[in-house]
Amino acid sequence: MGYPATRVQPLENPLKTPAFFSFSRVLLASSLLAQLPAHGASPAWLTARDAEVREVVAEMTLAEKAGQMTQPDWGAIKDPADIKNLFLGSVLCGGSTDPKAGNTLKDWTALYQDCQRQALSTRLRIPLVFGVDAVHGHNNVLGAVIFPHNIGLGCTRDPGLIERVSRITALETLASGIQWTFAPCVTVPRDIRWGRAYEGFSEDPAIATLLGTAAVRGLQGDRLGSTHSILGCAKHFVGDGGTTFGSAIAEGVLDQGDTRIDEATLRSIHMAAYPAAIDAGVGTIMPSYSSWNGQKCTGSHRLLTEILKDELGFHGFVISDYNAIDQLVPPSKEETAVQSNNASGQVSSGDYKKCIELAINAGIDMVMVTDKYRDYVRLLQELVNEGRIPMSRIDDAVTRILRVKFAMGLMDENPVLDPDPELVASFGSPAHREVARDAVRRSLVLLKNENSALPLSRKPGTLHVTGRGADDLGMQCGGWTIDWQGKSGAVTTGGTTILAALRQAAGDDLKITHSADASGANGASAVVVVIGEPPYAEMKGDVKDLGIAKEDLAVIAKAKASGAPVILVLLSGRPLILGEALDMADAVVAAWLPGTEGSGVADVIFGDFAPTGKLSFSWPASMDQVPAGHGKATPPASLHPLGFGLGY
Ligand code: BGC
Repeated sequence: MGYPATRVQPLENPLKTPAFFSFSRVLLASSLLAQLPAHGASPAWLTARDAEVREVVAEMTLAEKAGQMTQPDWGAIKDPADIKNLFLGSVLCGGSTDPKAGNTLKDWTALYQDCQRQALSTRLRIPLVFGVDAVHGHNNVLGAVIFPHNIGLGCTRDPGLIERVSRITALETLASGIQWTFAPCVTVPRDIRWGRAYEGFSEDPAIATLLGTAAVRGLQGDRLGSTHSILGCAKHFVGDGGTTFGSAIAEGVLDQGDTRIDEATLRSIHMAAYPAAIDAGVGTIMPSYSSWNGQKCTGSHRLLTEILKDELGFHGFVISDYNAIDQLVPPSKEETAVQSNNASGQVSSGDYKKCIELAINAGIDMVMVTDKYRDYVRLLQELVNEGRIPMSRIDDAVTRILRVKFAMGLMDENPVLDPDPELVASFGSPAHREVARDAVRRSLVLLKNENSALPLSRKPGTLHVTGRGADDLGMQCGGWTIDWQGKSGAVTTGGTTILAALRQAAGDDLKITHSADASGANGASAVVVVIGEPPYAEMKGDVKDLGIAKEDLAVIAKAKASGAPVILVLLSGRPLILGEALDMADAVVAAWLPGTEGSGVADVIFGDFAPTGKLSFSWPASMDQVPAGHGKATPPASLHPLGFGLGY
């Protein structure tokens, strides 16, 4: 295959990128939803070069095809030359996998380049597509702009904004050379005890559909291969947010559990976002770890082939989740006993060959094998040679993968090894941070505001800022930030904590004081208490009780004892049970997991921006009201319904 000279693309100003939706105001999702297609099918541009794809597939050996269908985790690659020798089609860096050299943009670029060079030295020179979880910005990389997690973005109801946010995520990701993100997550979480609730835009499928589609547009542009587009991945197909409490693996209570509903309900709630994402051209889809009525989605021919590919017309490729195929054959008691203490909490079956057979025959095209990639490529070929997987299924999988690579423009040229210098220069830039700040202030939901406690005045006085979240960038960002589970503290560079933002915004007359435990609150004219959940991600974020932590309640009580108005700012991946905190606070702001731009919170606190956010999830008053009970004849009451949000 010959490759033409590198295509030179003009830099697009992300702030001027025309929005998919011409309006960018807060509108009712239901009215916007009417404009989205009821039934999707991948657009014609995705299959336009199938004749060229067929030529390449015809040239490939079985080993080369098996390699294309393989995605190891970089952290598990035993020898980088394996990429070349096994003809690997993709590499990922999972949530905790970083370049060995460090975590800067340069380190990530060098890692990408090293991997890509290996792929380009194979006989057919088929480039890798390199995947990461850029789920709220290019969030593995130090100095990247970190946007609010989807639960907060859902409160904006603003597809134009979500498109801009995703566009910048694409630009910052491409600045490292990487061109695939496992986003957007279009889950519809129905039980907020689930530690992945914040990855969803809303409990309302209409909002998840609207904003998920906007995210696909932002990441991929009008089409894959358009200027600075990256490959998106709608996930997790399907029903990930509908699992039954107590049905999960390991110690989780919901994560990776079983969604026990009929097909009509599965389609109307959990599948709703997929036709529109497919219609917008999403290039990849990731099946859910979870099961549907006892069968793992990853092994479901009905879901992946009959519904997703044949009925919904999805012509991109299906990428399995991290080690998900390992769960297709239930592990023996002995295997469970030996492995249940491992770091991930996942237990793999010894019959890996059977797992591969079930997954590929169900419709998985590329397997996120992570560490067992050498075994996988060998066993996959064995299964074909033994007639247990038909060659036609392999050819279909490879066709889908190469179709996406052709559509991305990867096959036309030497893929860009050196990222566009203008993208590198704009990585983490003030212009990108400004969009994130806007996303933050639009995502905040004002839940209570007695005696007009907010906005705060900048008149002479003392504002005391307290609580464990006040000066904690990591807590603001939550999970999937530098680390898989996120971490507390100065997790990345370049952001602004809420305390720092309030200091910047206060002006000359208002003095700001700070303590972690409200010990300096006495004498203040107002107290801002920032508390909430410590960072977490999948598996580890499942909880049984969503009450506010005792230590946080103690800080609120101390703030209240000062006699000054108490402004409670909650950093959380889901609604929390406010209990007595609601009575003690004069104003309550749900700030979700806003990311690096704390200034967006300060904008609302000082009234430079009046809050417009509306709840994307109903907010329960007590644990009796969890799960929210949508679709039940008599849904339990909630403290604040979906769509609630005060203004000034
Ligand atoms: C998650 C996916 C993610 C993948 C790769 C899995 O554990 O479920 O959402 O894309 O890891 O990091």
